Amino acid sequence: MHFGGVKAVDGLSIDLTEGSIFGVLGPNGSGKSTLLAALTRFVDLTAGSLHLDGEEYHRIPAATFARRGVARTFQTVRLLPGLTVEENVRLGADRIRGRGIRERGKGDDDVAEAIGRTGLRGLERHRPGELSYGAQRRVEIARAIVAKPRLLLLDEPTAGMNQSERQEISALLRELREEGLTQVLVEHDVQMMVDTCDHLFAMNFGKLIADGVPASVVREPAVREAYLGK
Ligand code: ADP
Ligand code: MG
Repeated sequence: MHFGGVKAVDGLSIDLTEGSIFGVLGPNGSGKSTLLAALTRFVDLTAGSLHLDGEEYHRIPAATFARRGVARTFQTVRLLPGLTVEENVRLGADRIRGRGIRERGKGDDDVAEAIGRTGLRGLERHRPGELSYGAQRRVEIARAIVAKPRLLLLDEPTAGMNQSERQEISALLRELREEGLTQVLVEHDVQMMVDTCDHLFAMNFGKLIADGVPASVVREPAVREAYLGK
């Protein structure tokens, strides 16, 4: 993924196996968000390819790609301020199934389930601006899981959260993994990454600098130097 002269993601090759949580660690500007954007077909690749079940999915039009069951959350909260929590979550179901927001009834159980799992019960009628930052981030996760994706990409979902909120999110992601949901998690909290992920990728300047089980990746000298500053 090149932007003009910037090689945001450079010569990177990764494999994601089903049912695991993959963490992506790296300093700011190392290409993590661009990697997620490429995996969701949010941006076109400069070169290279993406495969899902053997199908070349970099050729699938971005507009229809969401229906393949890939969902994401963004690094900055992107909720519609004029809609309620419930309506924002419903958008996630509509995006994948291609239904209008006004079409009530269908998918209500899925919306209620996603709201319950993310600890938002009782807040359905609130608007995002009335919620804490942590709760807004949970609405984003609810919106991403409501359509029951098979691959979920999370870009710094616990940024701005306190320790106990982080632990709740980590527990939720691990619970989703037990149900078979494959995830790619970008986070800066190294301890949370070690506790949550099955596998870590470490990036620097768009390149993969380490790849393996979390406890050993965070001990690698190249990772400590690039990321941990030691
Ligand atoms: P990270 O998420 O690891 O902080 P990003 O993927 O956001 O990193 O950015 C990687 C590099 O690509 C940075 O140098 C950034 O400035 C650049 N970049 C990202 N998106 C764009 C874009 N749309 N246009 C130009 N440069 C971009
Ligand atoms: Mg980023």
